[in-house]
Amino acid sequence: MQPIARSTTVAGVRSGRDETETVHRGDGRGRRAPRVAIIGAGPGGLCMAIRLKDAGIERFEILEKAGGVGGTWYHNRYPGCACDIPSHLYSFSFELKPDWSRPYATQPEILAYLEHCAVKYGLLPHCRFGDPVRRARWDETDASWTLETASGRSVVADVVVSALGMFNEITIPDIPGLESFAGARFHSARWDWTHDLRGEAVGVIGSAASAVQLVPEIVRLAGRVHLFQRTANWVAPKQDEPFTERQLERFRNDPALVRGVRQKIFDSFGGAGIFARVQPEMEAACRASMAVVADPALRARLLPDHPWGCKRPLLSNDYYPAFNRPNLELVADAIERVTPSGIVTRDGRERRLDTLILATGFATTKFLSAIEVTGRGGRSLADAWSDGAQAYKGVTTAGFPNLFMLYGPNTNADSIITMIEFQADHVLRQIQRIAREGLAWIDVKPAAMAAYNATLQRDIAAIEPWQAGCTDYYRAPSGRVVTQWPHSMSALEAALSGLDEDRYDAERAGN
Ligand SMILES: Cc1cc2nc3c(=O)[nH]c(=O)nc-3n(C[C@H](O)[C@H](O)[C@H](O)COP(=O)(O)OP(=O)(O)OC[C@H]3O[C@@H](n4cnc5c(N)ncnc54)[C@H](O)[C@@H]3O)c2cc1C
Repeated sequence: MQPIARSTTVAGVRSGRDETETVHRGDGRGRRAPRVAIIGAGPGGLCMAIRLKDAGIERFEILEKAGGVGGTWYHNRYPGCACDIPSHLYSFSFELKPDWSRPYATQPEILAYLEHCAVKYGLLPHCRFGDPVRRARWDETDASWTLETASGRSVVADVVVSALGMFNEITIPDIPGLESFAGARFHSARWDWTHDLRGEAVGVIGSAASAVQLVPEIVRLAGRVHLFQRTANWVAPKQDEPFTERQLERFRNDPALVRGVRQKIFDSFGGAGIFARVQPEMEAACRASMAVVADPALRARLLPDHPWGCKRPLLSNDYYPAFNRPNLELVADAIERVTPSGIVTRDGRERRLDTLILATGFATTKFLSAIEVTGRGGRSLADAWSDGAQAYKGVTTAGFPNLFMLYGPNTNADSIITMIEFQADHVLRQIQRIAREGLAWIDVKPAAMAAYNATLQRDIAAIEPWQAGCTDYYRAPSGRVVTQWPHSMSALEAALSGLDEDRYDAERAGN
């Protein structure tokens, strides 16, 4: 094994910084800092980069396929796009924003916040935009990763941090004739703002998170909207009155108040994760908001047949009222096929459409295996995860040394930005360990990962709402729940507080 410092390849970082940069630790020993490649410039990639810079590690590059930072909030620009975790918590703990305009900020405000973070913390010089990472290959001889991008660029790094998100690969439904549709067609996460929906007949396929937000908006413009629903979802009301000028002034003048509000929201999520509990009171609240729908037959079709939490519950104050508009039709008959002029349902009826919007979500269970990753012994990540993605504490997987993940398998719960912070802190400490101990690599032991996942899946099996037989983005094709964290946010923080050195194999550089 060659020492990291003798690697012959130029570091991925093109900032012209000194290649011999060191990490200075309290013990006075200086060691060469690992070169870090971060995939993705969403909240995860930005958080990791900020943590690296805080720790004095400047030798990193952020590889981003999009044209700018923001991740989810860069890509999803559909009308009505907003967070459903209060923004005072859905933001970094180290960069509070006292002037969120409302409790649940909309996409432009969240994107502006993330762009502000990227500028304030000096991250843009580290970013390479518009060039997706296609492949990552572990080189045993050099103890390094080589990333290849779509443009043919190669980046060599000692440590890779994947922050490519769970909601990136859009799902295009497999409906006969979809390609034949002659009108405009786009996915909600790739909204075509050049297209004017005014007066049009619009079909929306899918009635989950994105549809619930966008339908009440487009129905105000379009001539007719036909919403094709496969499964009804619980849609809860939210307290989302814009903050008053007086409130904003108090927030601006009193950082402790902002922290207090944040803490209160955090505490309100409680012990088991907000979407992992049996909550008859939430079903009652949804039924109460549904009562606004005047037509009882329509109300019946909007009523879910699964318990709250079985699928990801949704929030909106506008969704149910929109169904009282004469130009919104809920179509609960299954889609049979798409024709050049519209959609035909099983009952043989065709709705003629000018535009078709696919609010059909994302392939959530691939995680990093969305790209071609080859680890130790030439094993691919797709192969290692053939039964569904799994990781040790969500951050690393056996056989893929020095490869860390943010928002990886089984880390989805509550405020993802908060969860990401805990993971980024942990990954930083692992990187510091690598530097401090002069390690070529660390790799979680397969037995440690297996034991961790056995306990995790047992805990998941005890979450009642997730056993109610829903098909949702939580499950891999094998049926295993691979996205969800079954405990509180604090429990993840606690799980990631140690370095767990005994659970990792490691090799010193130069061996
Ligand atoms: C519409 C919507 C609303 C949401 N609302 C909430 C909410 O209210 N609360 C909440 O907690 N979570 C919410 N989420 C989840 C949200 O994805 C996370 O909160 C958060 O954005 C995750 O950050 P991330 O950096 O891990 O991933 P992302 O934000 O998805 O960022 C990943 C980045 O990686 C880039 N990337 C992907 N593949 C590659 C590649 N091969 N090469 C280079 N770059 C790549 C992407 O372009 C993207 O910029 C929502 C998701 C969606 C889609």
